[in-house]
Amino acid sequence: MNITFYGGSREVTGSLALVKTDKYKFLIDCGFFQGDDNDYFRNKKDFDFNVKDIDFVLLTHSHIDHCGRLPLMIKNGYQNKIYTTPATKDILNYILLDAVLVMQNNWKRFHRPAFYTQTEVFKTIEQVDVYDYYQTFKPKDDIFVTFKNAGHILGSSIIEINIDENNKNHKLVFTGDIGNTLTTIIKPTDFINGCDTLIIESTYGNKIHKGVDRRKTDLNQLINKTIKAGGSVLIPAFSIERTEEILYDLNDLINAGKLKNIPIYLDSPLSKNILTVYQKHTYLFNDSAIKKIKQGDDIFNFPNFTIIDDSLQSLKIINDREPKVILAGSGMLSGGRIINYLPVYLTQKNNTIIFISYQAKNTIGEKLIQGRKTVMIEGKKIKAKCNIAQISAYSSHADKRKLHSFVKNIKHPTPQTIFINHGDVDQSSGFKQELSKKSKAKLIIPEIGKNYQI
Ligand SMILES: [Zn+2]
Repeated sequence: MNITFYGGSREVTGSLALVKTDKYKFLIDCGFFQGDDNDYFRNKKDFDFNVKDIDFVLLTHSHIDHCGRLPLMIKNGYQNKIYTTPATKDILNYILLDAVLVMQNNWKRFHRPAFYTQTEVFKTIEQVDVYDYYQTFKPKDDIFVTFKNAGHILGSSIIEINIDENNKNHKLVFTGDIGNTLTTIIKPTDFINGCDTLIIESTYGNKIHKGVDRRKTDLNQLINKTIKAGGSVLIPAFSIERTEEILYDLNDLINAGKLKNIPIYLDSPLSKNILTVYQKHTYLFNDSAIKKIKQGDDIFNFPNFTIIDDSLQSLKIINDREPKVILAGSGMLSGGRIINYLPVYLTQKNNTIIFISYQAKNTIGEKLIQGRKTVMIEGKKIKAKCNIAQISAYSSHADKRKLHSFVKNIKHPTPQTIFINHGDVDQSSGFKQELSKKSKAKLIIPEIGKNYQI
C-alpha cells in the first residue's frame, strides 16, 4: 500500500492524505490551504486525483485546514461516505457554512467567485456518518477504523487504521492535530499503544509553550490592569476551543472574586453557534469541567456576560466607552466582527489587545505583535496606540515536549516509519532531528505529491 500527501507543510498547509491499498483508495482529511494570496487559486483548483475513485474519507476534526475542501469534492461528484465523530459533524456544519459566507464576502470585495455554496455544504453533511471514540467500524472489507481522542478541540480524533493485506495486518495512525498539555474543558489526549506507520503533526515540533500553568493568572492581571486604567480589553479568538477556554477561565476568575463587575461580550456569530455544540456534547468534557456543571455552575455563562446577536448591537458596543472585555473573531484579525473594533480600539492608549493565538505571517495581528505603530485596516491607515499583549500558552496544539512523549509511548509495536507532517520547515526538521536521537524508525518529512510505500 502507499500514501501521498497533498498538503501538510507550511508552504502548502491544509491536511490531505491519500492512502491506496490493493483494493481501495481513501482520504484522511480534506482541508483548505492557508497562508498566502495564492491560497484562493490552490483551494479552487481541481483535485490531483479523481474524487469518484475514492471509496471513503476519514475526517480528524473540523478546523478549516482539515475539512474546508470537502464540499468541493461533493461538487466534483464524490458520493461515498465521510466518517468522523458526532461532535466533529456538528461543528463541520457551522464551519463550512461560515466558509461560504467568507467566500460570498470575498466575491463582494475582490470579485473572486465562491467555489462552492450552501447546497454543497448540506450535501456534505448528508454524506457524513458518525462513530464515537473507541467504537471500531469497518468502512470496507479488511479495513478497521477507530477514533481516539486527540484532545485538540471538541470531537477531534487521532485515527487508528488497521488494514489486512496479503495475510498481514498493517496499523496506520494519523494524529491529526494533537492537543496542548492543559485542556481545561475536553479530556486530555489519548496515547496510542502501538503502530507500524505513524503520521504525526509538527506545528510546534521545535517549540515549548511557556507558562501554561500561569495563563489564567496572566489573563487576570492584564484585564484588571487595563480596566483600572479606564480601558477595554479586546481578545481576538478562534471560535473553536479557544473562545470556550477563555470563557471557562473568565467564569473561574469571576467565581473566585478576581474579576469584579466587568461587562464581558462575545461578538462572533460563529462562536455563538459553536458554543451550542459544546453545550450539546458535555460527555466529552474532562472530570473537573463535568464536576463544575454537576454542582450547578454554568461554565460558559456568568454575571455581566452578553452574547451579541446582531451587527446593530455590535455597533453600539464599539462606540460605547465603558471599560469592558470583548472576545471577537477572527483570531488572526483577518476578517469577522473584530475588524470593526480595530479602528476605534487600537487608537486609544489605555486599551489592551491580548493575542492568545498564533498569528500567521503578514497578518495585521503579526504586524502588531512585531511592534508596528501603523497598520492598514480595510484600506485605511490606523495608528496603533493601545497596549499589545500576548499569552501564547492558550495554544490548542501540543508543544515539542508533548509530541516527543506521544511518540515515546508507542511501544507495542514501535513504529517502523514516522511521517512528520503539518508543520513549518523549522518545526518539522527540528522535531525530526531530535527524534532521530531517540527513535529507530525511518523518519520522513513528506514531499507534497510524492508516493510513499508503507
Ligand atoms: Zn486543528
